[in-house]
Amino acid sequence: MKPVLVEILAIGDELLYGQTQDTNSHWISIELDKVGYKVVRRTTIGDREDQILTAFTEAEQRADIVLITGGLGPTSDDLTKPCLAKYFNCKLAIHEEALAEVTAFFKSRGRELTEVNRQQAALPVCCTKITNAIGTAPGMWFEKNGKVFVSMPGVPHEMKKMMLDVIIPKLRATFQAPALYHQMIRTIGIGESFLADKISDWEKSLPNNIKLAYLPGLGEVKLRLTGTGDNMDTLKEEINAWVKKLQPLASDYIYGYGEDPLEVVIGNTLREKRLKLSIAESCTGGYLSHLITSVPGSSAYYLGSMIPYDYEIKMRQLGVRPETLEKYGAVSEPTIIEMANIVRSKFNADIGVATSGIAGPGGATPDKPVGTVWIAYSDKHKTVTKLLKLTQDRQLNIRYSATAVLNLIRVNLPA
Ligand code: ATP
Ligand code: MG
Repeated sequence: MKPVLVEILAIGDELLYGQTQDTNSHWISIELDKVGYKVVRRTTIGDREDQILTAFTEAEQRADIVLITGGLGPTSDDLTKPCLAKYFNCKLAIHEEALAEVTAFFKSRGRELTEVNRQQAALPVCCTKITNAIGTAPGMWFEKNGKVFVSMPGVPHEMKKMMLDVIIPKLRATFQAPALYHQMIRTIGIGESFLADKISDWEKSLPNNIKLAYLPGLGEVKLRLTGTGDNMDTLKEEINAWVKKLQPLASDYIYGYGEDPLEVVIGNTLREKRLKLSIAESCTGGYLSHLITSVPGSSAYYLGSMIPYDYEIKMRQLGVRPETLEKYGAVSEPTIIEMANIVRSKFNADIGVATSGIAGPGGATPDKPVGTVWIAYSDKHKTVTKLLKLTQDRQLNIRYSATAVLNLIRVNLPA
């Protein structure tokens, strides 16, 4: 079965100025992916006739379906409708049913129908009207040489309702798509190129209908397998078999599949093992605790945190020994060991973790540049530390350090 190719055109000067974010294209991509259609291009264009017409011509060459949002309004800056009439070489005329709908819409709100509003009901005579159940600008459906163009309002909730209620069902009745399936594999603790090296033989042996994508994030790399086939069940089985083959090649780094981030996966493990977590975080200033407590139900395994940001507070409140701080400094291995051990015992927890570092941009010393961060994990069997050498960017350093602690928990949790 051939893939069904779609191009999305978002029209409106406000999108190009950056005043409005093009959320429509993003949403449409997600919905089309669910039904197995392949979006091959998304284009944003301003309210200019020549550019709109060129975009139509180009999109028709690339795609089976062209979905257009925006520029349908009754005002003179909205050009999509006259452009469509020109492109499909037919006149604009008042559509009686559309006029009745617009009239009813205004009447139901106790408002007069002006001539400008009446023009909302003028449609190219060669299109099929699509009712706008919650607004005034109707959608339009055109067919030419086996290709379909659909024009929808720019207003997001009007477009969404029209897509879900009418357009997607109508498209599915017209274009049968092959099954499309994605499987995400989430890894942490290994860089993209090292991971690629480890799995290159596996990657080379993937069949033509299954594609691999590397999606690097902060400290983690997601692998996405995307497959197409005639039958969804067979395709899922096929992709799952490839995931099983990958598992032993990257078992140290794979922490999950699907949508759950690391804090959720760790939360599940802590809950299953009935382990309690406590945190002493300095340079991350509460961000790590925020990640942990963003997960619903975290009270089952999270006891609490201390944020001893200040040198004195590290001594007086947390209880790090003055000798340790004086001799080695706050950003040091002996200090981070004490922080993790002390918070674990003070909170009567199974696990204590800690962070202390120089997030930047200030605070560096000759032997401790910006981005120097110590992290530690402590349980009743062991204390493990790690020195991170991060970036000049404060926000990145904070986020990366928190992720690194989550990974430290993952690899050190007692069996
Ligand atoms: P209307 O009949 O309401 O005039 P329209 O088709 O003319 O609909 P536009 O005038 O282009 O739509 O835009 C209407 C509203 O929808 C504006 O607030 C605009 O910012 C928003 N909008 C337009 N396009 C998009 C888009 N691609 N993503 C998100 N919002 C959009
Ligand atoms: Mg507009």
